[in-house]
Amino acid sequence: MNAHYDYVIVGGGSAGSVLAARLTEDADVKVLLLEAGGKNTSILVRMPAGVGSLIKAKSDFNWGFWTEPEPHMNDRRLWWPRGKGLGGSSAINGMVYIRGHARDYDQWRQMGLTGWSYADVLPYFKRSEGFVGGDDAYHGGKGPLAVSWGERSSHPLYAGVIKAGAEAGHRLTDDFNGADQEGFGRYQLTIKDGRRWSAAQGYLSPILDSRPNLTVVTGARTTKIRIEKGRAVGVDYVAGKGGEAATAYADREVLLCAGAVQSPHILNLSGIGDPDLLKAAGVPVTHALPGVGANLQDHLDVSLNWACTQPITLYNDTKGLKQLAVGLQYMLTGKGPGRQNGLESGAFLKSRPDLDRPDLQLHFVLAIMKEHAKVTVQRDGFTMHVCQLRPESRGRVGLRSADPLADPTIFANYLATEEDRRAVREGVRIARDVVGQPALAPYRGEELSPGFDVKSDAEIDAWIRETGETIYHPVGTCKMGLDSDPTAVVDGDLNVFGLSGLRVVDASVMPTLIGGNTNAPTIMIAEKISDLLRGRAPLPAEEPGATSARSAA
Ligand SMILES: Cc1cc2nc3c(=O)[nH]c(=O)nc-3n(C[C@H](O)[C@H](O)[C@H](O)COP(=O)(O)OP(=O)(O)OC[C@H]3O[C@@H](n4cnc5c(N)ncnc54)[C@H](O)[C@@H]3O)c2cc1C
Repeated sequence: MNAHYDYVIVGGGSAGSVLAARLTEDADVKVLLLEAGGKNTSILVRMPAGVGSLIKAKSDFNWGFWTEPEPHMNDRRLWWPRGKGLGGSSAINGMVYIRGHARDYDQWRQMGLTGWSYADVLPYFKRSEGFVGGDDAYHGGKGPLAVSWGERSSHPLYAGVIKAGAEAGHRLTDDFNGADQEGFGRYQLTIKDGRRWSAAQGYLSPILDSRPNLTVVTGARTTKIRIEKGRAVGVDYVAGKGGEAATAYADREVLLCAGAVQSPHILNLSGIGDPDLLKAAGVPVTHALPGVGANLQDHLDVSLNWACTQPITLYNDTKGLKQLAVGLQYMLTGKGPGRQNGLESGAFLKSRPDLDRPDLQLHFVLAIMKEHAKVTVQRDGFTMHVCQLRPESRGRVGLRSADPLADPTIFANYLATEEDRRAVREGVRIARDVVGQPALAPYRGEELSPGFDVKSDAEIDAWIRETGETIYHPVGTCKMGLDSDPTAVVDGDLNVFGLSGLRVVDASVMPTLIGGNTNAPTIMIAEKISDLLRGRAPLPAEEPGATSARSAA
């Protein structure tokens, strides 16, 4: 198949699903979406409680990468799940809906990136969102990405941890995505009627059979972008059981949406990147662009575990054969514990009072799962996840070899700076202090990890090095920046510097990691660029509160 399209989109994940849907709203625009994985119609994807099974192992839904040995983490290789198939990482993620702090985007604008301030991007967050509470100053009620409140947020532990946060002297917030992110509160989730709402579910499912101008090919792995005279003209890919080679041509543009690990990898495989590193891997240089794969940033997370003295955790819902019953009940009736993601409250906190925004995020989970749910502790208990939101450390995604089917190398370089180590350490102390408050006394059992013998800075640091893991938010490997920035890969319109007909549109373009989970911000980025590609004026900037339904009332 050597077909021509207006746009070829590589990767049907969070960003690729948005672009495919928005671009084909124009009936005369022909789009090909190539996705390496499958359609992701499995019950494990649909059922929110399937998340642990999706994350823990390499599968049809999960690329299952490992990092290189991490020097500041006792040389451990860390597990990096990444979503595969329609919906990408939004089909296996934790379903927490967070946008980050307004100042994260204002910081991008201050870096010279016109059009990316919070006021500029807020209308795109709102356009993408189908919030159960409807439209208001901060939320959109009519968008494709369903967002709801957790169904069990009055559970004594979810509610108790928020109360404990207040008892420990922290603020409370009624909306992490509203006027004030800081404090303890309830999470909003990309779940609708007890079903995971991936980007594919929201954007692609409604149009897959009804848009003749959209062709979606699953099981199609892009191996290279074809560059002719400085222009991306199409892509080579392999598809089908025998891995037959094919080429698709893009008369307008190739849109790379393969995510923060694989977008830089595909650029590298196409000879676009740091010339020395390309040559070392045996890939001929097409276009020198040293920033490709560099600037990798991720949220490092530690999980503190406590036993729970009452049978009210997910363990009690799922122990023994009950687990099978949960799946069956969900399949037959759509009801029961299968509707939950197990994570409905948390916090955004400052590790130092002088910070201008929270630099720690807490996720409170109603179970003890270790090593990305590879190990589920068989007792009633709960977990407080602590992650640092704006690490100084920078890593790199690189080429392992010139073989396009080989995994890339991932070097996250976690905890390379003292500030990063301090912030996580402080987060551990804060989490312990909160769980120690009276509101959780009726439920709090023994601290299982790190355990009471881990007290001093050195002991806490050693425990962090030994147990820290990703909380799955890599960004920055195709950094958006000014052309004066030698590390930038794309400009503010996401065009790859020095080439035409090629943009990167996904989490990899974020120049700095936002303070929160990265699915909604990635979807926002794709929404915004879809207007640009369609020749539409950007949505008018909205100063938060200016269009408030509440303030108008
Ligand atoms: C386990 C996990 C939990 C997470 N939890 C949350 C959460 O609770 N809340 C939140 O906001 N964020 C969460 N995230 C992060 C969030 O889901 C991602 O940041 C976001 O989905 C990234 O979108 P993307 O479009 O950049 O990439 P992806 O959604 O990963 O999409 C990339 C797509 O490209 C495809 N692809 C890759 N290589 C090729 C190729 N060569 N050819 C064709 N296709 C290819 C992939 O198969 C994939 O479908 C989580 C992520 C993971 C992995």
